Amino acid sequence: MLRQLLDQAPQSDVSEGLLISSVQSAGLTPVAFRPRKLQFARPVLSRRQKLYSLPIIGFIALLIGGAIISAVRSRSSALGALRSAVQRREFVVRYQPIIELQTGRCVGAEALVRWRRYDGSIVPPEEFISLAEASGLIIPITDQVIDLLVAELHDVLVADRNLHISMNLSAQDIQTGRGLDYMQTQIGRAGIRSDQIWFEMTESGSVEIDAARATMMRMRDLGHLVSIDDFGTGYASLHHLHSLPLDALKIDKSFIDMIGHDTAGSKVMPYILDIAAALQLFCVAEGVQTQEQVDYLVERNVAFGQGWLFSKPLTSEGFVAFYKERKARYGPYSRTAIPGWPERKRV
Ligand code: C2E
Ligand code: CA
Ligand code: CA
Repeated sequence: MLRQLLDQAPQSDVSEGLLISSVQSAGLTPVAFRPRKLQFARPVLSRRQKLYSLPIIGFIALLIGGAIISAVRSRSSALGALRSAVQRREFVVRYQPIIELQTGRCVGAEALVRWRRYDGSIVPPEEFISLAEASGLIIPITDQVIDLLVAELHDVLVADRNLHISMNLSAQDIQTGRGLDYMQTQIGRAGIRSDQIWFEMTESGSVEIDAARATMMRMRDLGHLVSIDDFGTGYASLHHLHSLPLDALKIDKSFIDMIGHDTAGSKVMPYILDIAAALQLFCVAEGVQTQEQVDYLVERNVAFGQGWLFSKPLTSEGFVAFYKERKARYGPYSRTAIPGWPERKRV
């Protein structure tokens, strides 16, 4: 029938192989299409039009070329600036207090790097960490963060063995395990104990899982506590998660933001908490900004939290003052309050 229709179709209805034909028969009106390849019409330009279009094409090519050159230049100049920053040791560390949610006690802080440029301006990590990772400069930056936190906080860490500092490690630090060796040397010299340094590792597609597992096992054997950072936003599959030697999950701020809002995302939190419970991991909530969030988290046994409700990231002096003030107000914090502590204590 279709064949017949196609053959009957008048030539005028055939448009470059696509036939649109209709025939009325027995009260029905079938319509037939003959498939054709997708083609772009080629405009036929006159010689004069071609001549006129040449400068336009040249101009566009120049624009594209210029954009590429300037992107390459700005990347290489950004890289040059970052490289000199590493040489001049222009990095500083800020410490954001971590709070035991039920008691309000300060249990430690997360070390957060910043780049303080020669003119005094502060560059946030989000503007240079990915370039540092792509170029390998993250490795000396991690070393500088270790140097700074040991130099700035060793007094208070030696005085209070319950206090800890949490440090962010990049995929390369985890892959090679290099940062761990350097950390061991530096804290060993300063008399800081391994269980006073916790590591935060972001779920990342670029980490080779066996290498990561090996580094994490070494960390835990040495007595450090290990957590997955930004949990829920990365690529760590649950399949891998249960096979990784972990102590804690850091719940990303984006999930904490949804507490109290009736959105699809807010329904994810109970699942995160279930996963943590099933894997016997304790949780640290990131980006806590309201008392309503604290109440929700305490009700669900989330042990720790950090966020602007308690404090923004502080200088080392600011952090020590904050810690002392909390200690005076809420009493000293004991590490035995860490969920499952006796089993987590390995050294
Ligand atoms: P992160 O590990 O998720 O760190 C938490 C970020 O959330 C920090 O941003 C912190 O200042 C911010 N934050 C905490 N509480 C609140 C809050 O209540 N409200 C808001 N709006 N923000 C809050 P920061 O310091 O800009 O760090 C950004 C990211 O840079 C970090 O995210 C981490 O992935 C990376 N980073 C920071 N320091 C280091 C480092 O030493 N090494 C590596 N490899 N990465 C680092
Ligand atoms: Ca972190
Ligand atoms: Ca985060």
